[in-house]
Amino acid sequence: MDAVVRPDARVVPLYDLPPGESLTAIATGDQPIHVLALPLATALPAIPTIKWVGRDERFDIIVLSQVSAKADLDRIAASEYLAPVGDISGAGVSYADFHAEAPTEGAVHSACAALMPIVMRIRDLPERVRASNDPDLLLLGRIGTRDRPLTAMYDPTRAPCVRYPVAGRIPQVAESAVRLSGSGHLQRQFFDRLHICPQCRSSRLSVREECTKCRSPRLTEERLIHHFRCAEQLPESRFRKGPDLVCPKCDYVLNHFGLDYDKPGSVLCCGSCRHVSDVPAIAFVCLDCGTRTDADDVPTCDWFHYDLTALGRHALRAGMLGPDRRDGNHLIPGVLSRSTFHELAASCEGLYRRAGRPFAVLAVLSGTGTAATAPKRTAAIAADMIFDMVREMLRPGDAMMSAASGPVILCPETTSREARRLAKRIEKHIKDNIAVSDAMRVAVVPPQAAFKLD
Ligand SMILES: [Zn+2]
Ligand SMILES: [Zn+2]
Ligand SMILES: [Zn+2]
Repeated sequence: MDAVVRPDARVVPLYDLPPGESLTAIATGDQPIHVLALPLATALPAIPTIKWVGRDERFDIIVLSQVSAKADLDRIAASEYLAPVGDISGAGVSYADFHAEAPTEGAVHSACAALMPIVMRIRDLPERVRASNDPDLLLLGRIGTRDRPLTAMYDPTRAPCVRYPVAGRIPQVAESAVRLSGSGHLQRQFFDRLHICPQCRSSRLSVREECTKCRSPRLTEERLIHHFRCAEQLPESRFRKGPDLVCPKCDYVLNHFGLDYDKPGSVLCCGSCRHVSDVPAIAFVCLDCGTRTDADDVPTCDWFHYDLTALGRHALRAGMLGPDRRDGNHLIPGVLSRSTFHELAASCEGLYRRAGRPFAVLAVLSGTGTAATAPKRTAAIAADMIFDMVREMLRPGDAMMSAASGPVILCPETTSREARRLAKRIEKHIKDNIAVSDAMRVAVVPPQAAFKLD
């Protein structure tokens, strides 16, 4: 990093250092910060709190000092997707966790200071997450260690036009997020609906008005002329003969506006086929592949913001995604993905209809309590504790899933009277152990309601 002696440029941290903490305090108290500098062959200044490491050594932070080093970064293994990246090249690398405008020694300090909280959270993760190659688990890890939701933002430099900065270099984030939301590890919130090219799925589309007859976009708006004498009504250009207006139907010269003619409105005239129409056709043209599609035939794609659920945080602490995932591990007994839970509820309902076997569904409803009034972090801790308490109180055969409102419990072979007693017991257990609002309750809900709790 030969430019390191330059005076300090403005530094733009994305993640703030907790108040009162300094880089020196963090680094000297624990292990030194292991920093991998890219590009690899740079002259590095001696900085007391930092140990510069090579690519094959363990590192906490990656610092990019030149934008050309992105190629070096691409060669860093996928298992390093969690590592925070400080971009001090001034290029604004999109997936970096920290940006500074120039590679100065101060920028290296600021990057390390700003990224240290993330490093600490990564060190707290189970080895199974840190060493994982599973993009879904790594995505949960990114959200957890950045301590912020997976927020979508517009990005016209990419064909989908949306990206998730918190996801860093993880590929196919949207697909992972959809899977994780389906399995209950993430909850989602609508961001936007974008049109996509049916050919290449790009959202970089130009919207245009076209001639309804020949589909040319060469439309001009023209005033209509209405000739009173013969009732002819055509665009002005058709009446125009030099300086005069001459009716093309009856050859009469139009002299006086209001007496001979008036202009009742305007129309669209096609510059290619001369067709005249009141309204244009609308079409989309893909700027990536050139495909043109009628507006009515252009598909759309919905984008969401995502955040961890109690199940997601649990999976992160346990280092595994849990039930009925592709790894096949039923790590958390009784906890099911949303789809499996719904299947099980449907089969209970079938059994009830055919053979009158009772079953019940309970839901923990936080009301406005823990979620809305408490600070976000407190609410998350309370949600995690409720999740664990409910799980520990499941009886053999019971199953639960994690919904946005709180845990939902399926109780096969349970009468409504037994269910109400169980609900009361769980509610009392929660209220005895953690501070939740009075509005929080555990209720026996109609099975159909359980499907709408997401
Ligand atoms: Zn296209
Ligand atoms: Zn036309
Ligand atoms: Zn006329």
